[in-house]
Amino acid sequence: MSAPVRVRYAPSPTGDPHVGNIRAALFDWLLARRTGGAFIVRIEDTDRAREIPGAKERILEALTWLGLDWDEGPGKGGPFAPYVQSERQALGVYAEPAERLLASGAAYLCYCPTERLDAMRKAQQARGEPSRYDRACRDPAQREAMRALNDAPVVRFKTPTEGRLGVRDALRGEVEFDLSLLDDFVILKADGFPTYHLGHIVDDHLMEISHVLRGEEWLPSLPRHHLLYEALGFEMPVMAHLPIVLGPDRSKLSKRHGATSVLDYRDQGYLPEAMVNFLALLGWSVDGSTELISRADLIERFGLDRVLSSSAVFDVQKLDWMNGVYMRSMTHDELAERLLPLLEVGLPEDAPRPIDPAYLAAVVPLEQERLKRLSDAPDLLSFFFVEQPRYNPMRIIRKGMARDGAREAIDRSLRAAEALDEWDAPSLERTYRALADELGLTSGQLFGALRVAVTGREAAPPLFDTMAVLGKQRVVARLRAAGGFLGAMPVAC
Ligand code: GLU
Repeated sequence: MSAPVRVRYAPSPTGDPHVGNIRAALFDWLLARRTGGAFIVRIEDTDRAREIPGAKERILEALTWLGLDWDEGPGKGGPFAPYVQSERQALGVYAEPAERLLASGAAYLCYCPTERLDAMRKAQQARGEPSRYDRACRDPAQREAMRALNDAPVVRFKTPTEGRLGVRDALRGEVEFDLSLLDDFVILKADGFPTYHLGHIVDDHLMEISHVLRGEEWLPSLPRHHLLYEALGFEMPVMAHLPIVLGPDRSKLSKRHGATSVLDYRDQGYLPEAMVNFLALLGWSVDGSTELISRADLIERFGLDRVLSSSAVFDVQKLDWMNGVYMRSMTHDELAERLLPLLEVGLPEDAPRPIDPAYLAAVVPLEQERLKRLSDAPDLLSFFFVEQPRYNPMRIIRKGMARDGAREAIDRSLRAAEALDEWDAPSLERTYRALADELGLTSGQLFGALRVAVTGREAAPPLFDTMAVLGKQRVVARLRAAGGFLGAMPVAC
């Protein structure tokens, strides 16, 4: 077993918790738990303009929902607090290293006005070139000239203008970069906030992070970070760039493909266990074939050695399947416990509250197989709880039956129910099979009519089990209502 790691999940509160992003958090968490290390959460909110109110809370909510508890971070504290970059900036955490780089000549102040930079970017775009800073302020004379135009400088890092640099990635081995493609990038902005490049390096160093797991989209920035680590005299953590998460059409997963926020999946009624299992397999595998793996086994088996370097496809059908498996594998009691709060909120208003847990416990075994997501429950189970399910009485009249025949079948069924003392599935079945014979109906006809009258549905769990759970009182009331509906229908029916 490897040495305990210190890993961090460092989201920017600029949007909802994207599945690709949370997948990185899960891998961090698994590695920390596997090695007995620490999982740290740090909020990277230095891009003040892009911050979305509430995003931080939603990201933390997603981690909590999935059970990815953090050892240090917001709300938890820790030896390197605060864990929010804006709070760290106020303490001068980033100004000191930036000044050190300025003093050593590894960085310089840039006074170029925004208009100049914008014009430069546009011209480069028009020529089909990548936008890059032209290093004007690297030259002291030009810098002085720019200073007359702008008094709020940024700090830029001096990058080599040529050469090649090999940097190690834990998943890919040595990756080679062409340094001539880099420009002198900003490390400290005019508002005094660090850019991501400087901010995360300083914090990863101060927080003693041993491994950085992040999305592959950061791989092109790796040479810049390597150079910054060197200039600051910090040791670079192990870097692992996780395969990108793609939609089924193999383009980067986006809203176009459906929900991308982990919380949307929670709201759609997926189970956190299924989501964790599913996310773990987005770019990692136990053995290339195992699909279902428990949280405990994930912790036991997880390692960077089996993180794939090819992209991972987010297949919602697989998630649906997995969710169904987890739903079915829960004990009745577990499922009932999770459904209770959802039903309290989601059932129609005429369902009496509070819900009786003992009654729910009897209902759950009948429906568990049919529930694909937790959120299916209020709709699927509502007929068990409402006073009277709503349906079109025409549906009681099954194929080959006339309205009068249906009416008679329901009236006789009502009388049979009223007369029945043993209210259990076998007695009910015996009674109604005999009644079908007596009425000259097939069991399919009578049972179909009863199913609609008693549940409002044509597809429901086994009829007599359902009637047994509903109880005599409800069944009698619903049959009486059904007879009334049929009686009140226009004769032409
Ligand atoms: N704040 C960065 C992001 O949200 C973190 C990237 C990293 O993990 O280093 O993408």
